[in-house]
Amino acid sequence: MSFDPAPLLRTARGRCPRCEARLPDAPFWDVAPACASCGLVLRRRGGFFLGALVWNYGLVAFGYLPLLLIPGALGWIGWKTVAWAAAAGGLILPWFIHGFAWRVWIGIYYGFLPDQMGREMDD
Ligand SMILES: [Zn+2]
Repeated sequence: MSFDPAPLLRTARGRCPRCEARLPDAPFWDVAPACASCGLVLRRRGGFFLGALVWNYGLVAFGYLPLLLIPGALGWIGWKTVAWAAAAGGLILPWFIHGFAWRVWIGIYYGFLPDQMGREMDD
């Protein structure tokens, strides 16, 4: 199995993984259902959203939370503050990065399965 990074680089910049057109505007917590230019389906059915949830969780758990643990371990902030910031960030941050997590997921998916970009129907 090979991975082509081009779709991921396109979606991370808010571009379509197939035609590279700017993706239609969507709220920051969401992604458009399809590319307005080429019609590529971005919101496939059948549990496809679970990939975005995994990326969302991963970015919070392994990106945000370690940023709190380092100053806590160094004694710059107290552990009680770390716990409150972790709880607040864990509840709020996923809403703000959900659209980005969707785009990363779409880019990873089409990077591994570029032949799926030719399919218009979700399966
Ligand atoms: Zn497109």
